[in-house]
Amino acid sequence: MLRIERIERIKEIVSKKKNVKISELSKELKVSEMTIHRDVKQLVDEGFVVKTFGGISLAQTPTIQNHEHHRDKCSLCHRPVNDRFAYQLILTNDHIERTCCAHCGILRQLQLQDQVVKAITYDFFTGTTISAHVAYFVMDPSVQITCCQPQILVFDSKDNADKFVKGFSGKVHNYHEMLDMMKEFLKC
Ligand SMILES: [Zn+2]
Ligand SMILES: [Zn+2]
Repeated sequence: MLRIERIERIKEIVSKKKNVKISELSKELKVSEMTIHRDVKQLVDEGFVVKTFGGISLAQTPTIQNHEHHRDKCSLCHRPVNDRFAYQLILTNDHIERTCCAHCGILRQLQLQDQVVKAITYDFFTGTTISAHVAYFVMDPSVQITCCQPQILVFDSKDNADKFVKGFSGKVHNYHEMLDMMKEFLKC
């Protein structure tokens, strides 16, 4: 299969499935993950997909008519932002960026680095506002709750995060562990 055909095929797959892992694409298209990474880079540059942890997601490009609703779209993947899972970044220029979930929020935070003064999000159980740096994050639970894969849910205490993991699996991380994990992922 030619590279151009493969890229078309990847577009088809991600349009249908919305989220897809690099390893799945590699298996499906019978090429190495390295090759898929190179193909995907082009689609990321085109703005067709966004990178996720170990895979890609279909990007929803905001149209011009949607412009005034721009603040209701995730600043990373352009999905609509649901207040309950929003992860907001307060920037040095007093600007606020909203992302759809902790997954996008942390990735965006790593992109913006020093421009981020503070990250604010919501406790999964109570919906109370919490500062991300004191939160606990549950990575990849078995239930589908938020939008981006793998899901990251936020809790205001380790105790509640542990309780959640008992019922729905996943892994608990504190803020610094979570940032480090996502940083590792951005390197590839
Ligand atoms: Zn997003
Ligand atoms: Zn999301």
